[in-house]
Amino acid sequence: MGIRNLRTMGDECLRKKCKEIKIISPRIRLLAEDMLDTMYAANGVGLAAPQVGILKRMVVIDVDGEHPYVLINPEILEMSGEQTGYEGCLSVPGKSGIVTRPNYAKVRATGLDGKEFILEGEELLARAICHECDHLDGIIYVDKVEGDLIDNEELERMEMEEE
Ligand code: ZN
Repeated sequence: MGIRNLRTMGDECLRKKCKEIKIISPRIRLLAEDMLDTMYAANGVGLAAPQVGILKRMVVIDVDGEHPYVLINPEILEMSGEQTGYEGCLSVPGKSGIVTRPNYAKVRATGLDGKEFILEGEELLARAICHECDHLDGIIYVDKVEGDLIDNEELERMEMEEE
């Protein structure tokens, strides 16, 4: 297990444009493993390399705890539809905010095996793809949030009242 330190809002790493990965070296493989470990340890569904201080174009996503994806140099090819809902980020701990995203996203990336692949997703997966790819260009969801951020505890209370 390699848990890396999570960078939080205010850290300049989160505002940089990340560099393309040209060679999938052992260091890149280790980074991918550590990013997955770090994401799971923090109960996240996605993590981008700049969130652990590495300015390279790689993200990891696992929205159901069963399908981990490592996306190297991801490039969004298609987006459609719309979804509006609460979103959070491991770099903005304890908070959530409403963000409108496409309901469908299609992304092309390179895997750890060096082969290109296409990942398509709807709903939470589409949201995660867009959110994580934004990180590689220094964009954080708070830039897109509608209204104020709220504490996750308050969000849980609101959700319980709705049930
Ligand atoms: Zn994030």
